Amino acid sequence: MADCLFCKIVAGQIPSAVVYQDDQLFVFRDINPQAPFHVLVVPKRHIATLNDITPADHDLVGAMVRRAAVLAAEHGYAERGYRTVFNCNAEAGQTVFHLHLHLLAGRGLSWPPG
Ligand code: AMP
Ligand code: ZN
Repeated sequence: MADCLFCKIVAGQIPSAVVYQDDQLFVFRDINPQAPFHVLVVPKRHIATLNDITPADHDLVGAMVRRAAVLAAEHGYAERGYRTVFNCNAEAGQTVFHLHLHLLAGRGLSWPPG
């Protein structure tokens, strides 16, 4: 999608600190980290929000969640704990309208979130 920040990051038109990529996923460090380890797991294909997921995307979303767990483990957070978050639309604070799964780890994370 022409005017999407994360599509540009996936395409390499905007630099990012890449953590992982494969044929369908791209993972990079959040530019404004809210925890010592804060990365964004995004599909390479443009999907605006969680509301736009269809049954055809179930494997993709599963791969996103699974990749977050694998990366958490690889970085030493599996036992300590970590948080995964999809923000959807205004009241959840979504600011970039290309689906992304936040993975946060490395500090105690309070609940409920703000
Ligand atoms: P959300 O508020 O859930 O839409 O999250 C968007 C996230 O994208 C925020 O945590 C931002 O810090 C992050 N972000 C915005 N621009 C960039 C960028 N150029 N590179 C990496 N992360 C970014
Ligand atoms: Zn996009």
